[in-house]
Amino acid sequence: MSTEQELEAAETKLKQMDHSEQHYFNSYNHHGIHEEMLKDEVRTRSYMKSIVDNKHIFKDKVVLDVGCGTGILSMFAAKAGAKHVIGVDMSTIIFKAREIVEVNGLSDKITLIQGKMEEITLPFEKVDIIISEWMGYFLLYESMLDTVLYARDRYLAKDGLIFPDKATIFVAGIEDGDYKEEKIGFWDNVYGFNYSPLKATALSEPLVDTVDMKAVVTDPTPVLTLDLYKCTTADLAFSCPFDLVARRDDYIHALVAWFDIDFTACHKTVRFSTGPHTKYTHWKQTVFYIKDVLTVQQGERIECSLHNRPNEKNKRDLDIKIQYRLDTQDPKRQAEGTCLYKMC
Ligand code: SAH
Repeated sequence: MSTEQELEAAETKLKQMDHSEQHYFNSYNHHGIHEEMLKDEVRTRSYMKSIVDNKHIFKDKVVLDVGCGTGILSMFAAKAGAKHVIGVDMSTIIFKAREIVEVNGLSDKITLIQGKMEEITLPFEKVDIIISEWMGYFLLYESMLDTVLYARDRYLAKDGLIFPDKATIFVAGIEDGDYKEEKIGFWDNVYGFNYSPLKATALSEPLVDTVDMKAVVTDPTPVLTLDLYKCTTADLAFSCPFDLVARRDDYIHALVAWFDIDFTACHKTVRFSTGPHTKYTHWKQTVFYIKDVLTVQQGERIECSLHNRPNEKNKRDLDIKIQYRLDTQDPKRQAEGTCLYKMC
């Protein structure tokens, strides 16, 4: 098939998918989203380091790049001495990736297959290493981790490696009064009218934004750790009780979540964080405003729980529930609540 015919076939295949899947894959057709990811140096350099600085691991191996996009990770793997790399992507960006691989003289080392990972058949029975950049906002939003786990179970050789292989979500309490007022309080009085029906909607949408480290009031706490060798799709619906301990006297308007990623298969573990304490990444952080304002004293504990599950209708969306309870001796400061969020 010529490239034009393949492109046409890919576009037809995309049109036959259900609406949300079409929307998801079409968003990766355009180079703009790939530009944003490639320019995220924390992200891309961590992958580069974990692959190119570990030539002894990649040498002569068969590598699968799940969701190869523009082919960057495939080219890192080829540069690291892989025997052969197979990149798979459903989006039409893969046709550009083929040209990129070609102009870099790597066509004999890299095979790029257009299609859904779950639907295509690889030219190899098993692969030695899986590389993939699958993370979404709040780690799991629109995430394609299901696809990586499918590829692991179907193709990864016994003792095969996964890059990266560990992901952890952290949560902390933040002081964010001014912005909460701007985003949530705004609906209390709009030109003299009560807009509270929209206040509930605004509260239910987690906000992807950068949080200043100075706003963080509590110690961060991990709420989910995924071991990519062992986890299953069932682990992506989880429930975690946790405590947040106040570092200082302050107010808490919201919880903030972020994630860390580890490549432990490397000679020396490569790790990056998307937290407020470190360099900007395109994932920013995710802020969950709570109904109350908690007035906390240093050392006080807020008992919380976080429940997350993929939405039943659209599995790329997330339904999240956060519960909190500030139990103090001071009855005027006691507070508890349950908030429901939808990431869509
Ligand atoms: N690896 C590239 C792109 C990462 S973005 C980089 O690091 O820059 C994730 C890519 O995975 C997107 O291009 C998307 O189209 C693709 N993808 C997601 N789910 C997929 C699936 N089930 N089958 C094939 N490709 C998929």
